[in-house]
Amino acid sequence: MILNNVKMIGNNEPVNVRIKGQQIMEISSSPINHKSEVLPITFDKAIIFPGLINSHDHLDFNLFPQLGNEIYSNYTEWGEYIHKSYKEEIDQVLQIPSPLRSRWGVFKNLLCGITTVVNHGEPSGMNDDLITVFEKSQSLHSLQLEKNWKLKLNNPLKINLPAVIHVGEGDDWLSFQEIDELIYWNFLKKKLIGVHAVAMSEKQAKNFKAIVWCPQSNYFLLNKTAQVHLLKKHTSILFGTDSTLTSSWDIWEHLRLARKDHLLSDNSLYNSLTSGPASCWNLNCGEIAPGKDADLVVVETSTAKTGFDDFFETVPANILLVAHKGNVRLFDESLLPQLNAIDLSCFSKIYVNGNCKYVQGDLPALMDDIKKYHSSAVFPVSVN
Ligand SMILES: [Zn+2]
Repeated sequence: MILNNVKMIGNNEPVNVRIKGQQIMEISSSPINHKSEVLPITFDKAIIFPGLINSHDHLDFNLFPQLGNEIYSNYTEWGEYIHKSYKEEIDQVLQIPSPLRSRWGVFKNLLCGITTVVNHGEPSGMNDDLITVFEKSQSLHSLQLEKNWKLKLNNPLKINLPAVIHVGEGDDWLSFQEIDELIYWNFLKKKLIGVHAVAMSEKQAKNFKAIVWCPQSNYFLLNKTAQVHLLKKHTSILFGTDSTLTSSWDIWEHLRLARKDHLLSDNSLYNSLTSGPASCWNLNCGEIAPGKDADLVVVETSTAKTGFDDFFETVPANILLVAHKGNVRLFDESLLPQLNAIDLSCFSKIYVNGNCKYVQGDLPALMDDIKKYHSSAVFPVSVN
């Protein structure tokens, strides 16, 4: 496959990107003529960037609406409140079998141009046929809600796996103090990856390999977010969406909110979705360079400029193509004439905000299956 006439972020000269197998082979500003290539695609006014890495989601929780209508002091207060106030809504969603919910969670990410998602919780059972579902970590829920977390954290059989744990998700003393407790009990000095870290201080941050920043979820629950402009001096900042229980399905809305905060520069925010998590989770992606996995997103832009403005203005409806490990997983209908070699029987047709996309797998059938269990389930895509 060759992706012709696309602009990389920060470079105004169009380039052509050649992909072979699952990897990027070549990036060139002059035309690439490669006779064996079966799939050249030429774009007009489009930017290209690495498939995003979402470092925090719960794949099976993405059929919930946002639950909560107040500002809470911490996650346990919120949890108790929603189980009391929204019991019926929660039970309705939990009637849907978990594999169907997780499969939707995979599509939720793919539709936004995410090609790697780090799933928190029990292994989802999802394979990597659409995007990479990263689960090579030790998921611990939190200090308050994970039973025997001290024993689990110090399980010598899991010493090589980073421990990923919700921590400091609150605006009170308890949330601050539990971070110290976690650090104290990490006897094996495991690599800790803290999710949320709203209450975290700079001193505490030194004990973490990375922090996953989920600003939209934080503002929804706490009307406050992590001090990432300070924490970044001591640890890596990765970006996460969390599930639709506390945030929008669309990561681009999260990113525009984050950008408005000015806590991270545009470049740091971009890195928190690309090279930063690739390094933290040890993945061969997150960068457009020869030898890297061809996890790529091409987006139509109105201006064809290449600064961060175009990148952060992305909406799912404008995504022209998502490639994952060199395979097309999603494309806009406008590319159909150029994609005549592709086997359309592997794709289904859906509409995102009125724009027709072809997505690998049978998303309409999945939506129908889900509605058998929960007839009023709401999806951000339609089938016609
Ligand atoms: Zn979470």
